Amino acid sequence: MKNSFTTYPAICLVLVNTLLFSCTSNTKEKVDNIENPLVQKSTLQYQAPQFDKIKDEDFVPAFIEGLKIHDTEIEAITNNTESPTFENTVLALEISGEVLGRAKNVFYNLTGSSTNPTLQAIEKEYAPIFSAHSDKIYLNSEIYNRIKALDFSTLEGEKLKLVDYYLKRFEMAGASLSIEDKAKMMEINKKLSMLSTEFNSRLLKARKEAALLVDTVDALDGLSADEIERAKLKAEEAGHEGKYLLGLSNTTQQPLLAVLKNRETRKKLFEASFTRAEKNNDADTRKVIEETALLRMQKAQLMGKKNYAEWKLQNQMAKTPERALNLLSELGKASVAQAKKEAANIQSIIDAQNGGFKLEPWDWNFYAEQVKKEKYDLDQKELEPYFELNSVLENGVFYAAERMYGITFKKRTDLPVYNPDVVTYEVFDKDGSSLALYYLDFYTRDTKKGGAWMNNFVNQSHYLKQKPVIVNVFNYIKPTEGNPSLISFDNVNTMFHEFGHTLHGLFANQQYVSLSGTSVPRDYVEFPSQINEHAALEPDVLKNYAIHYETKETIPQALIDKLMKAEMFNKGYDVTELLAASVIDMMWHTVENESDFKSVLEFEKEALAKNGLLVSEVPSRYHTPYFAHVWGGGYSAGYYAYTWSKTLDYNTYDWIKQNGGMNRENGERFRKYILSVGNSVDLNKAFTDFVGHDMEVDAYINNVGF
Ligand SMILES: [Zn+2]
Repeated sequence: MKNSFTTYPAICLVLVNTLLFSCTSNTKEKVDNIENPLVQKSTLQYQAPQFDKIKDEDFVPAFIEGLKIHDTEIEAITNNTESPTFENTVLALEISGEVLGRAKNVFYNLTGSSTNPTLQAIEKEYAPIFSAHSDKIYLNSEIYNRIKALDFSTLEGEKLKLVDYYLKRFEMAGASLSIEDKAKMMEINKKLSMLSTEFNSRLLKARKEAALLVDTVDALDGLSADEIERAKLKAEEAGHEGKYLLGLSNTTQQPLLAVLKNRETRKKLFEASFTRAEKNNDADTRKVIEETALLRMQKAQLMGKKNYAEWKLQNQMAKTPERALNLLSELGKASVAQAKKEAANIQSIIDAQNGGFKLEPWDWNFYAEQVKKEKYDLDQKELEPYFELNSVLENGVFYAAERMYGITFKKRTDLPVYNPDVVTYEVFDKDGSSLALYYLDFYTRDTKKGGAWMNNFVNQSHYLKQKPVIVNVFNYIKPTEGNPSLISFDNVNTMFHEFGHTLHGLFANQQYVSLSGTSVPRDYVEFPSQINEHAALEPDVLKNYAIHYETKETIPQALIDKLMKAEMFNKGYDVTELLAASVIDMMWHTVENESDFKSVLEFEKEALAKNGLLVSEVPSRYHTPYFAHVWGGGYSAGYYAYTWSKTLDYNTYDWIKQNGGMNRENGERFRKYILSVGNSVDLNKAFTDFVGHDMEVDAYINNVGF
């Protein structure tokens, strides 16, 4: 996942003025700003955040100061009496808001990975302020008209692209609306931003509260001693001495469901996960979702579009919801058929063991593991000793990057971090010159959002003389004291995936931040990260990192063969649950009449049924009440993007395989066409130039073996 915190929401004028007043009348805060590590540019290498100096109480003064400076800059552009030029309008806009951008970048990284009640309160308070601030800029007709009045014939390359980018952004925000409609739009945006914050805080609470408390160790049969110990500690921390607490991960399916032998415990854990945010309490997200969906529809219609998805997709690769839904349904037919075959295989194992029950979602992973073992003789537990976290990172992810791109890494221990578990590296280009700083935050915490993501602390820009400072965040389970961190192959894959985003960020070669690196359409941004996942299974790479943590023996060829085969296993399930989530998202956002909305649970069921994806054994990867990408993140009408990107990925991977594999030559080519261009060129053309043809669905179907 690629996070995008930089969608500027922001300011009700009255509110801001009040804040400014209370700030400027306070001498102490004025003094603080001189030393505020967010207001001042960091003096660390590449402006790396000064986490040793940043305190929670620095954010509000930095936001106030940043908003004030940004307002002044925007006013100067608006009131400029000279005729509009690229420099005095578009460039001036592009480089405005530096202090605010810096403070927000650090802030949203922390609220994502290491939050606390103070930060959460600030987040809640500032969501509507930032949303109004953004509206004030992008609904500003003077600036919009100045951009439209530019002499386009004098512009080319990145400058022309930047002008296009801002024009679209103003149009999508509603800059061409009447004053009356703009006021309505601002009101909607303000509400939406509050709802999104509300959703996130409810979900965090829901996830924590829905952790499953288990009374006896017998009910945990199948878990390792380490897992049991962890559950016991977690229960103790929560005040349940002598019991066991199983925390929830983000997705519907829970990793422990693959090993728990007790069917009743599995059922309880699954249900805890599925119903986590629909308990009619203050962590229930459904009302928030219903309001959000309705407001989004109203927003799109205010802008003359039929529905929210139509508005949202206009600057994406897919362009229209119809094209996105077509791809989903075409793949859906193939994946559901495959999932049904897989379900039949699993049922036959249950029957052979005289189980006497029908396969349910909480059984799927447990028995799929057995089918896998029977079919491929592969046991996840047999693999894990070969996937020690540091080896995967340095001998796998870094090794593959060096092979394909010639880049190298040096561990840094001198940079301040926001949590003692965060590690840092400096990245060097093939000629030895320094490229970027790279942070990794591996372990799960209650204060961290679920999932994994990449983000920039500092964005690349030649114009601003900035090099990238990038972070990858994961939710791996921290080993107990003295034990190595052994991870599953899925988690290995995630590390390669996030590093694919990192490559996109660190090879960025743009003048302007808005077009730099991963600032590309949603349905394109996952493409480089998915390409990098293939590196995890390249035989030479795999042999280099998959070293047994105790015996130091390289993973045996027989195990590699099994792993390769097993990677094709369960694809029907995997693709179907992903498509189900994508369809749920798209259906919520293609509603055109208020009367077509239903209660959350009913709506979801109908949306799946209508698209042939209501398969009882294969629940959606995310169920509407905890679909954070869509209600609390930036993926609304955009979850299909993973599938769209994946299709780009398989087309590209086919080309790479047919042309010599993941070698240095193809790495250079991929860097040139895709990884280094950010959003500075026509991306459809960049893609077709690389593979030599348009995107084909068959590449997806063939690669997953349907
Ligand atoms: Zn991603």
